[in-house]
Amino acid sequence: AMLRDDYGKEDKVLVSIRIRPSDNPSAWDVSAGAQPKTIKLQPQHCKSSVNPPQDFRFDEILTGSENKPVYNAVARSHVCAAMDGFNAVIFAYGQTASGKTFTLSGDEDQPGIIPRAMKDVFAYIKRTPTREYLLRCSYLEIYNEAIHDLLAPPSSSVSQPVQIQGTGANVVLTPLREEVVTCLKGVHEVLQRGEGNRRTASTDWNDRSSRSHSVFRLVIESRERGGAGDAEPASGRTTPGFRPPTPGGPRLQARGGRSVQTSVLSLIDLAGSEKATSDKDRTREGKYINTSLLTLGSVISTLAENSAKNKSDHVPFRNSKLTRMLQPSLSGNARISVICTINPDGSAVAESTSTLLFAQRIK
Ligand code: ADP
Ligand code: MG
Repeated sequence: AMLRDDYGKEDKVLVSIRIRPSDNPSAWDVSAGAQPKTIKLQPQHCKSSVNPPQDFRFDEILTGSENKPVYNAVARSHVCAAMDGFNAVIFAYGQTASGKTFTLSGDEDQPGIIPRAMKDVFAYIKRTPTREYLLRCSYLEIYNEAIHDLLAPPSSSVSQPVQIQGTGANVVLTPLREEVVTCLKGVHEVLQRGEGNRRTASTDWNDRSSRSHSVFRLVIESRERGGAGDAEPASGRTTPGFRPPTPGGPRLQARGGRSVQTSVLSLIDLAGSEKATSDKDRTREGKYINTSLLTLGSVISTLAENSAKNKSDHVPFRNSKLTRMLQPSLSGNARISVICTINPDGSAVAESTSTLLFAQRIK
């Protein structure tokens, strides 16, 4: 199997740091190859820092402009786990312009985690002829604690925000479009459409993208193959390994004792973590962002703590839309990876320190 299930319980959450390249000398001293991997502030910056100098230790510290080693180190096994039936969530956290979108989406030269994950998903399906799969993806944005379906026309998504219904493991988002995808090209089309709608909906794109969370979700259903009824129907929408949506909604049905396994892979580009700097930040938007990032930190650290120490402390999922929506995906056997991106410049020391403190808290 592709999955190396080498996570102990205590490793429910993988926390990594990615430091973007800079033209200036780095304010940070990194021992990325060493064990344990540590990062600390260079002495000349310590007196100006808002926090005392401190060694931070993480699962991975990644540098450079290549996205492939990042994918391999902090995302690949989570994607495989999702294919094997576990829920998996990958977050990019950090101040604006620290490299969240570069890490998750990347560019033509350096595709990020999302395109690499999808490539692996299709390769996995091809290698697994004993199962049949149905993949559905959705793409949404959380802005000012309102959820917008990026796959719906912008006008309808404003007039009809997505609601979270149900509680606990039974949370559903409605109305939310889910597109069946059967190939990489289909996924790219969906992503592009979502991105286009997101730009259309915002008067100031940079501002909007730094103040909203964007969530790409892939629902993976699979069932063991077998029996005469499984012959691939002749349809333009299917590729080997897939069946088209069943009438009345795209769902795989259990058949002949072969149950359907369902898991969700969520890839999340979080709102910028920077502290309030302007008047605007002190208004509604700023408060919402701070609350939801704080809640995310509490939720992940409580989950990690519960998992490591076999406790069942209350997890404050309900304090933000993001964590409420993710509750089914974060609970139980979920695999979580948080990539914290930092800008190594001296001018960003305060924000980078705050990002490292967040990362340390959830570790
Ligand atoms: P964020 O999404 O956190 O606001 P971006 O991903 O948009 O930040 O990054 C800001 C700019 O820096 C972009 O032009 C991006 O291409 C570049 N960049 C970020 N991280 C890296 C990296 N590791 N290597 C090279 N360029 C990067
Ligand atoms: Mg971004």
